[in-house]
Amino acid sequence: MSGRSSNKNQTACASRRRAALRRAAARKAQALLVSRPVDVRYLSGFTGEDSFLLAGRRWAVLITDGRFDEQAPRECPGIEIHVRKGSMSEAIKDALKGRTVRTLGVQGTHLTAAAMEDLARAAPSRRLKPLRDFVAPLRMVKDDSEVRAVRRAVRVAERAFGELIVRGIRAFVGRSEREVAAELEYRMRLAGAEAPAFETVVAAGAHGSFPHYRPGATRIRRGQAVLIDWGARLAGYCSDLTRVLFTGRIPPKLGAVYEVVRRAQAAGIAAVRAGVACKTPDAAARRVIDDAGYGRRFVHGLGHGLGLEVHEPPALAARSRARLHAGMVVTVEPGIYLPGAGGVRIEDDILVTTDGRRRLSSLSTDIRAMVLR
Ligand code: ZN
Ligand code: ZN
Repeated sequence: MSGRSSNKNQTACASRRRAALRRAAARKAQALLVSRPVDVRYLSGFTGEDSFLLAGRRWAVLITDGRFDEQAPRECPGIEIHVRKGSMSEAIKDALKGRTVRTLGVQGTHLTAAAMEDLARAAPSRRLKPLRDFVAPLRMVKDDSEVRAVRRAVRVAERAFGELIVRGIRAFVGRSEREVAAELEYRMRLAGAEAPAFETVVAAGAHGSFPHYRPGATRIRRGQAVLIDWGARLAGYCSDLTRVLFTGRIPPKLGAVYEVVRRAQAAGIAAVRAGVACKTPDAAARRVIDDAGYGRRFVHGLGHGLGLEVHEPPALAARSRARLHAGMVVTVEPGIYLPGAGGVRIEDDILVTTDGRRRLSSLSTDIRAMVLR
């Protein structure tokens, strides 16, 4: 990261820390201990591991170890870096010395009970308060630079997919699911991805009915559906897309199902708008699938938030109590799974805007575009 962009990122990180501290103040905590690596990154810019961030109103300390003593100050200018020699809890105790922190908010859903005990021993004069969700709600709403990062991750994933399918049926038939997954991941890296955002799914024929299938040695044949779920990671941010390709011929049953899923996805996307409940797009898509008689075969929620993690809040699901806000990025991915026959899922990445939505992905959903020759 260049000096200027890292400074800009630091300004964003500092305002995120202030927002997290405001949430903590409502729970009577004067400082926060952030332990989840992805949240440490979000609030400090630090991309290494095994490091905790301590933050109060006018100060922040990143506690790391010798492996990162060169990287940490580069990634986090303006944050005090504490390279620990002993245990993490001893280092936290040292870093808190001389600061008025009576109550320290910690990530209750992340720290283990053993870590909590160590901390309590190391800092007996401070109260540790396990808090839920003081970073997740902030991370749900993306700023412009985050949206740009997701957009780039989408573009890289789409480019790799385009390069794969332009080679036609010969890039698939006779090759194993694993080989196709490897080629797609290789092309994403060549196109600029740091890594795949998750393990690429390539599911041929009947394997498509397993929503989280792992590609295996099965060779792809002619006349099959091939479900591909893939994404790239760039500058830490993820994309997540799914398409179903057909090797020559469309199996009749899946052709009909494909149209239902395509209409369900369009209905789900059309229902995405700032202010609506997260369960509303799910209901809109589910209605289309229910009406077609496949309700019991749509076995997961409509989508999920997307950002530094491939699955993050909010969930677009019937049980969700959250609301959509402008700046959220969500996937919309209805699916119908027919055991023994295969499955169809279509997934795109959508930015919630004040006046509606913007589709960040641009691949066609037209079934004709999915038939390989
Ligand atoms: Zn996916
Ligand atoms: Zn997804």
